[in-house]
Amino acid sequence: MNITTKTKLNAVIGYPLAHSMSPLLHTTSYASAGIDAIMLAFPHPDVSALVQAIRTLGIGLTAVTIPHKESIIPYLDGLDDSAREVGAVNTVISENSMLRGYNTDVIGVEHALRGIDIAGKNTLILGAGGAARAVAVTLSKKKAAQYYWNRTPQKAQILAQQFGGTVLKTIEDVYKQPLDIIVNTTPIGMHPDSSASPLPGYHFEQYQKVMDCVYNPLETALLKQARLAGAQTISGIEMFIAQGVEQIRLWSGIGVDPQEWREVLSSWPRPTAKAGQAGSDRILAKPE
Ligand code: NAP
Repeated sequence: MNITTKTKLNAVIGYPLAHSMSPLLHTTSYASAGIDAIMLAFPHPDVSALVQAIRTLGIGLTAVTIPHKESIIPYLDGLDDSAREVGAVNTVISENSMLRGYNTDVIGVEHALRGIDIAGKNTLILGAGGAARAVAVTLSKKKAAQYYWNRTPQKAQILAQQFGGTVLKTIEDVYKQPLDIIVNTTPIGMHPDSSASPLPGYHFEQYQKVMDCVYNPLETALLKQARLAGAQTISGIEMFIAQGVEQIRLWSGIGVDPQEWREVLSSWPRPTAKAGQAGSDRILAKPE
């Protein structure tokens, strides 16, 4: 890669960002598509400071992740319909120095759940943040019966009011509820706490479909539990690739090859942290 003073800077913002594959995957796609740009990660807890930095540095495309997807909205100059519908922003594009918020997560969820019969099925969304909103939009459009569980039940109640469905108040209620499709949108199980599951000890059934929005590791503890019980599992990587390819299309107008992201991810080495070492910079663990 030939970096010059003309090379454009894109960003992923969130806090923390140790899990993010966006800089590697975006920058790989830019190089293949002949786009003179790189993406770097800017972890920071203060979203207003991050938006100020986007404006100051003239960043064209910003990927927004946990926990800033909703809190960034008041700092933007406008919202696309996709972001308005979901109530969360995962993409900011600078258009004539005006920052416009988009949401490509819905496209990601639709892609991940393609081919799955959703109408009339009992579905559960674990979590009630930005990713949960994208899942709720998709499931409600496809006429699912929706159940919600969240650590803070009031936030699940807001989703139920907006997108329809029923809040399960306790985790015990979740374990008792007959469910066809389960989608985890909490960060439980995300690197580096990859042994954690949002449903420890849950008895999965073979007919169930289980999706995890967490994409690092590719197979989370939740998905492993489900797979071992014979359920169909869907890695968060399916959503991640589709939403990322759409981010690049919105910004550059160029449709990059999603297969390239798959190849980068499948050749990514396993973590190599040695005993006594705090962690590893190789963050993507392949499924067992
Ligand atoms: P968010 O807006 O901050 O929402 C997080 C949700 O998870 C909230 O409902 C929160 O509950 C809940 N939560 C957080 N920590 C928890 C814990 N320790 N125990 C129980 N519940 C907890 O985040 P987000 O943007 O929706 O992202 C959530 C996850 O999805 C992240 O891991 C992110 O990387 C992943 N994601 C993946 C993709 C993809 O393309 N695959 C896209 C988007 C997001 P409270 O309401 O109680 O705080």
